[in-house]
Amino acid sequence: MQAAAARFVRDVVRVLVGEWERRGRYPREEVGASGLTGPFSPKEVGGLDLSYPQGMDVFEELGRGDAALAFSLSMHNAVAAAVSRAEDAGLATAWGERLAAGEALGGFSLTEPHAGSDAGAITTRANERADGWTVSGRKAWVSLAGEADLFLVVCKTRVEPGHRDIAMVAVERDQPGVSFPVIYRKAAADFLPIGEMHLDRARGTLLAPPGQGMRAALSAIDVARCDVAAIANGLHAEALDLALAYARDRVAFGQRVLDFQGIQWALADAATDLEAGRVLTRRAAERLGTPGGPVAVAHAKRFCPDAALRAALLASEVLGAYGWLRDHPLARFADYAKMLQVVDGTAEVQRIVIARDLVRRAEEL
Ligand SMILES: Cc1cc2nc3c(=O)[nH]c(=O)nc-3n(C[C@H](O)[C@H](O)[C@H](O)COP(=O)(O)OP(=O)(O)OC[C@H]3O[C@@H](n4cnc5c(N)ncnc54)[C@H](O)[C@@H]3O)c2cc1C
Repeated sequence: MQAAAARFVRDVVRVLVGEWERRGRYPREEVGASGLTGPFSPKEVGGLDLSYPQGMDVFEELGRGDAALAFSLSMHNAVAAAVSRAEDAGLATAWGERLAAGEALGGFSLTEPHAGSDAGAITTRANERADGWTVSGRKAWVSLAGEADLFLVVCKTRVEPGHRDIAMVAVERDQPGVSFPVIYRKAAADFLPIGEMHLDRARGTLLAPPGQGMRAALSAIDVARCDVAAIANGLHAEALDLALAYARDRVAFGQRVLDFQGIQWALADAATDLEAGRVLTRRAAERLGTPGGPVAVAHAKRFCPDAALRAALLASEVLGAYGWLRDHPLARFADYAKMLQVVDGTAEVQRIVIARDLVRRAEEL
């Protein structure tokens, strides 16, 4: 899988990403044919059932190519894995194979215009009727808006505030009551549609019942946070390689830029950060699903995007003026590292998870 991801990056992503950006088109066919759409889905639906640490190697490779595309695959894969293990056999049968094969794409809708980090403040409502569930509300920052075929929508089932009644409902895109009226203009990744999803009594299938929706969402988000850390490591590794190659070939004041000690020390720090990020990510992936999982994941998700941003800025500095060229691969790295800091929970949210654990430990000392 790691080799397949590296080939996909070399032969498809690097060759075509400029065109995808210019056209503002999500590479649906290329993603579908990549063989990377079911790494965590079970074998019965055609998935690869990879362990999480194995999956992280795949996401690091993808992060070397394009972090936004990698992020969209992380989200799709989380949806594909959850749907294929759904208790509702009809849902699993209808969608499990198609999602794992990349014939259909999955999206995840938690955030709302007024509720991001504070996910418990969402107001989108799911209502149970005699013939199934309907969902009404307004979601924001939905990746693959209008492009994914099936969305996992996190919703309230009661009017009272709080998260004890939260459920997760699978909603098909192509039906009355589902629309994507707002698509954002962003700092980068024009090919990835992100925007609002409006739901007006849209029909859905229950994936996690009331009371279990937030837990289901958080366990999917923990996997996604690990993916994001691995994607950041890929971006970091690629930035470092671009800087090394340029510094090796560029001569200034009669010597290679690579031989200036000031540059070497900065590159050495970036290399240490990359090693640390990889160790944190692997450890987090190994601990997923255990009681220590969320904190291990928070350490990796907090550290790796920050380190990737520092590496992107350093590489840009090493390349001098050339790092500022729009068509240079490095040009979008800093924007992407900023994106990775925010998606699936900001750095501050990770610090809250880590700090809660520290407070618990302090009280036990
Ligand atoms: C490219 C991209 C793709 C996305 N895709 C999806 C998607 O597919 N589905 C989806 O549901 N969401 C998606 N999101 C939304 C993302 O999950 C949220 O942006 C993120 O959770 C942060 O929420 P927010 O932007 O509303 O920031 P806010 O919650 O408004 O936070 C604003 C600032 O305050 C800080 N802050 C908040 N609370 C605290 C606190 N208690 N202590 C200290 N600081 C705090 C935050 O860290 C942040 O710096 C996406 C976002 C981006 C950028």
